[in-house]
Amino acid sequence: MNNSSSVEQEKLLYKLVIQFLIFCQGSHKLLEPHLLRIGKRLKTGASLSELAPELQAVSKTLLHISKQSEQNVGPEDSPQQQNDYLLQRIDELLLNTAVPMRFQQQKARLRQRVKANPDPQSLNKVIDSAVALLLDIKEYAVAEQKGIDGFLSNLTDQLGEIEQHAEIVGQSARLTLDHRDQLNAQINFELSNIKDSTHQAKELASLKNMTGEHLDRLMLQLVEQKQMEDERQRQAQQQISLMTEKLQALETETETLRTKLKIEHDRALCDVLTGLPNRLAYKDRVEMEANRWKRYREPLSLAIWDIDFFKNINNSYGHKAGDKTLALVGQLLLNNCRATDFVARYGGEEFVMLMPNTPAPRALEMAENIRDMIEHCGFNYNGESISLTLSCGICEFTSHDQHDDVFVRADQALYQAKQAGRNQCAVFINEMGL
Ligand code: GH3
Ligand code: MG
Ligand code: MG
Repeated sequence: MNNSSSVEQEKLLYKLVIQFLIFCQGSHKLLEPHLLRIGKRLKTGASLSELAPELQAVSKTLLHISKQSEQNVGPEDSPQQQNDYLLQRIDELLLNTAVPMRFQQQKARLRQRVKANPDPQSLNKVIDSAVALLLDIKEYAVAEQKGIDGFLSNLTDQLGEIEQHAEIVGQSARLTLDHRDQLNAQINFELSNIKDSTHQAKELASLKNMTGEHLDRLMLQLVEQKQMEDERQRQAQQQISLMTEKLQALETETETLRTKLKIEHDRALCDVLTGLPNRLAYKDRVEMEANRWKRYREPLSLAIWDIDFFKNINNSYGHKAGDKTLALVGQLLLNNCRATDFVARYGGEEFVMLMPNTPAPRALEMAENIRDMIEHCGFNYNGESISLTLSCGICEFTSHDQHDDVFVRADQALYQAKQAGRNQCAVFINEMGL
């Protein structure tokens, strides 16, 4: 044999080996690991001689497989042996198949039949029964799987719902921390129970039962919790309403008191007889005007008015006539001064007038007009004409003056007017004639 033909032969052998190996693929599980290894080596370009150890292993395995099959069902096996072999395999099959509870009895009976060594005719029936049982089991398993899928998706939905519900209840700001912890513990407990049930349950029906119980309990707890929470909220709302009512009552009471106080205050500052501000009101006002005068230095004059011989009116016409005179004089003074002026009854038959933005000469001018107007007002009592005149003392605020000082000086001017014969107005003039 020359070299080229030996190469040709080797190629042929190589090709044959590969075809053989491809042919063997999937034929027996014992061959698979060898075929895999050889396949890998072929990919890396291994030569026949390099593959020799693996090919020897394949050869050994093939020998082993053929010996095994000879032992199992040899051509020399008798029908009885073949039956025994079949029965043995059926029994193995039944034994190793996971059978649901409902098929257990059927399986046990079938195994008894298998073990009773049936004759060839009965054997066929046994085989049919075994096939029918396995098909039933398969059908049941498929249905069971479908049921489980549906149940799990339903369970997931329900748990999601519970989770949402629990979250709402749990998040409630009004729930105390203790209650929230308690609720969480209960939920976790029931959820772990559900988990255990899914592990323990052998069949869908019992799983449904167990899970259903836990879910019911969980739902009940949440509902109870919600009811408690609603009740707490209702009570809190009631409390708030009660407090709001009390608050409103208090507010009304305060408002009434405030109005009463204002009335009292106004009354305290008002002279009842004339309706003019009284001496107390004058005190407030003169302080305010004096402060304003200090800040802006606009001229400010004070006039004190006194009814002349008022005692005579009282004595001649009675106290009532005297009161009427006082009321009239008050109104005349008020109606004949400017809106910015302030008139008060100081006491008895004396009145004070504050005149902002008015220097003494101007104040004198205005006072004279008023005095003249009152003198000629035609005052009468019960048709009887009564002489009504007033005297007035005026003083202007000057530097460093306190309002009391100005009042004293205006009073001095009033005294001068009285001294000078009454029914006249006088401006205070100091020692220097100012
Ligand atoms: P003169 O010109 O010097 O001021 O004399 P006059 O009488 O007005 O002054 P006098 O102070 O002597 O008298 C004031 C009187 O005013 C005394 C008092 O009875 C009276 N009088 C004081 N308050 C009231 C009052 O509210 N109603 C009445 N009817 N009289 C009053
Ligand atoms: Mg007087
Ligand atoms: Mg008088």
